[in-house]
Amino acid sequence: MTQQSQNFGFHFENSYRTLPETFYAQVPLNHVSDPSIIIFNRTLANELQLHADKLSKYGAAMLAGDEMPQDAAQIAQAYAGHQFGHFNMLGDGRALLVGEHVMTDGKRVDIQLKGTGRTPFSRGGDGRAALGPMLREFIISEAMFSLGIPTTRSLAVVSTGEPIYREKVLEGAVLTRIASSHIRVGTFQYAANFCDKEELKALADYTMKRHFPEILHAEQPYIAMLEKVIEQQAALIAKWQSVGFIHGVMNTDNMTISGETIDYGPCAFMDTFKPKTVFSSIDTQGRYAYGNQPAIAGWNLSRFAESLLPIIDEDVDQAIALAQATLEQFPSLYETYYFSEMRNKLGLLTTEEMDEECILQLLQIMEQFEVDYTNTFRALADNVRSKTPFFESEAFKVWEKKWLLRIEQQETSLEEVMHVMQSVNPVVIPRNHLVEEAINAFVEGDSTPYLTLLHLLTNPYQIDEEHEHFTQPPNDDIPPFVSYCGT
Ligand code: AMP
Ligand code: MG
Repeated sequence: MTQQSQNFGFHFENSYRTLPETFYAQVPLNHVSDPSIIIFNRTLANELQLHADKLSKYGAAMLAGDEMPQDAAQIAQAYAGHQFGHFNMLGDGRALLVGEHVMTDGKRVDIQLKGTGRTPFSRGGDGRAALGPMLREFIISEAMFSLGIPTTRSLAVVSTGEPIYREKVLEGAVLTRIASSHIRVGTFQYAANFCDKEELKALADYTMKRHFPEILHAEQPYIAMLEKVIEQQAALIAKWQSVGFIHGVMNTDNMTISGETIDYGPCAFMDTFKPKTVFSSIDTQGRYAYGNQPAIAGWNLSRFAESLLPIIDEDVDQAIALAQATLEQFPSLYETYYFSEMRNKLGLLTTEEMDEECILQLLQIMEQFEVDYTNTFRALADNVRSKTPFFESEAFKVWEKKWLLRIEQQETSLEEVMHVMQSVNPVVIPRNHLVEEAINAFVEGDSTPYLTLLHLLTNPYQIDEEHEHFTQPPNDDIPPFVSYCGT
């Protein structure tokens, strides 16, 4: 059966192609020798109203980009971006947008294949991806989703049956990424730098229609869009910080306008609480360190605002003044979201003036004693105090006394408070040593550790005794994880 004869339930409406042609390029099919599905997200396929059975059985060629379903857009998107602070023209160099799939409730998602070979934006690259990194994006994006963090999703990983050449010869693979769109801050930078004002306006209007239809008729629509994006990023980064997620490459092309986390390359969850933790081997300056993420988000948002200036107001000074005033809201918005997340983690269900200090004090003691970020919060939620230097310390005991007093002042019973804390403090997170171990085993042919970890991560707030070891940080003898580029 060919894919042309069945559409696997896809219902495409490719609105991106209504944009001026400068925003995309047509991409050839990705002919591969032996596509086969390595992992398939049936739950997501069902949520997307796709024919999960058929797609998982007959969909390998389509999911490898070797054949296109009916009405596919088959394009690569143009974008630019600041990478580690340096501006570049980029574009989808190894991703093919199959199309926008529209569900019965009108919800629209991009179906994108990552690793499908060269596009007009590939520059020197081969346009391909290796199995390991695609399995990495799959498991971490799905873990983020289960933690309630806005993210692109992963529908499938397909191996292409072809080798790809990095430092070693690796197995080629394609990831099917689902996103509410792939419009990035970098897409606006592309428009502002390489297109005319009409084209920039077309992109802005399109984006508003797609993501923020409620502001289409606002008095200052582009400022209203900037406000929305700022708000969503503030909320998103607050969630990252609260779970100890480090993106690793917060380039402007890796920041979506929809507020979804995108591009899981050298990312990681922090084990020991150290705000200076960096996870990308090429991030020698610590630009994208854990503690720097809110500031970098602000920096990226400034690049977004800059891109919008020509359409905000004819008068440049007026445009700058409006954008500046809007951008200035980011730090306090972020703090509000962050402290709200952290309050929940500590069971502070009401808001008191002393809360922020209480949260920061705890973090300071945690940093001093170099404790595990996730497990420390969970221990508080489970009311467990192991005999560690941290829990035995005078500093912690003084803090704990104040915290308990504060909790007692609430009307909610301690039991209920603990229950709330347990529902927001994960037991199991995708720790890098586990993720790496699982991926390595998978690539070598044993999928069990990966599937077990994936399963545990779909319900990260509880664990059975059999899997307790998945909650442990790496042994001291494992060198700290640093992931590399070339994904
Ligand atoms: P990323 O680090 O995945 O965000 O990618 C940064 C830019 O490099 C994007 O424009 C990618 O499409 C492009 N890129 C990454 N890997 C490749 C590759 N193997 N071939 C061509 N372009 C690539
Ligand atoms: Mg990227």
